[in-house]
Amino acid sequence: MVANVLEVNPERLWDSLERSAEIGRFRDVGLRRLALSAEDKQMRDLFVEWARTAGCTVEIDRLGNIFARRPGTDPSLPPVAIGSHLDTQICGGRYDGILGVLCGLEVVRTLNDRGLQTKRGIEVICWTNEEGARFNPPMMGSMAFAKVLTLESVLATTDDAGITVERALNEIGYAGPAPVGREFDAYLELHIEQAPVLDREGCDVGIVVGGYKTQALRLTINGDTGHAGGTPMAQRRNALVGAGYVIAAVNDIGLAYAEDEGRTTTTRIESFPNLAGTYAEQVKLTIDFRHIDADRFKAMRAEVDAAIAAAAKKANVEIEVAEGWSWGSELFAPECIELLKTTAKELGLPYREMRSQAGHDAYAVATVAPTAMIFTPCFEGISHNVNEAIELARSVPGANLLLNAAVARANR
Ligand SMILES: [Zn+2]
Repeated sequence: MVANVLEVNPERLWDSLERSAEIGRFRDVGLRRLALSAEDKQMRDLFVEWARTAGCTVEIDRLGNIFARRPGTDPSLPPVAIGSHLDTQICGGRYDGILGVLCGLEVVRTLNDRGLQTKRGIEVICWTNEEGARFNPPMMGSMAFAKVLTLESVLATTDDAGITVERALNEIGYAGPAPVGREFDAYLELHIEQAPVLDREGCDVGIVVGGYKTQALRLTINGDTGHAGGTPMAQRRNALVGAGYVIAAVNDIGLAYAEDEGRTTTTRIESFPNLAGTYAEQVKLTIDFRHIDADRFKAMRAEVDAAIAAAAKKANVEIEVAEGWSWGSELFAPECIELLKTTAKELGLPYREMRSQAGHDAYAVATVAPTAMIFTPCFEGISHNVNEAIELARSVPGANLLLNAAVARANR
């Protein structure tokens, strides 16, 4: 490394990750820290305490997004923001999102160690409910921040128990007074890759130039219910059978497009009345599909639509299709991508450019501020799984890239 570049303190970063891994521990090695739960509150409290100890001022907006700012020498300039999330999936790992927030905190701590000031402030952000595991859609905090979703619709969103985001925020004391939305000079997000490319290639740094185009569909399959014994087969309109045909066909489409990295997934099923002895009147399915190439994405969409129509016909049911989340059609800001590439070269860090297959808060923020992302490897790409694992030595290069790029931008 060049003499004047900054380096994070790997042991301190690891200690912070280990502290986080105690809050909401699940199945020994994983985490269950659902958005706005008691565990989420505990982790938020710890993050706020760490940020204040590091000299940051902390602001919380109406959605519980946390902004921890290390002031710059010119307070009139908008800060360089670094963010990700501290909530997890139901069977989640220790690093998804968490590594990004704690690397942001490590940037602040490193600058403190060295007694360095920056012209612009550096703001470390924890976005509310990135995962969407409790409240759907995911990336809710950043999407409302960027006005991709309205504040009202987010506050009114309920979990499966009927608790609204608004009530959950109030219950954990994170409905803050700061207005939703603020100006950033730039936004940088570090995240584990959640796919196996970096790990398999032995490369430690991914510079993310954009995302896979992604579309979710919410299907409502309507049949009618009846007796599992008495009703003649030809007379049945079993919504669950319609769902079964859709699930299999959608998966086959993903397999057909797998060669050039297409993906299809059925993620959620709800069946009514969901009783033994009775067939299903209504089933709700969520599916999603992703592709790096816009034309291939369009072709997948046509095949998915055709498969849904064929499944409806074969099962003698009606299927309504509503569009759910969608992202990834945009590329990140060339100036931020360039900054990351230049900084990586200065640090002598090998990197590869890549597109993200997963959704991230950065997509929404990219609509309001120049944005780019850094990926770091995770073992075999395993994520949204308790066995998510990273190697510290392979995460530090990305953290150092984040640090030096943020400082360069903040001194601009
Ligand atoms: Zn994440």
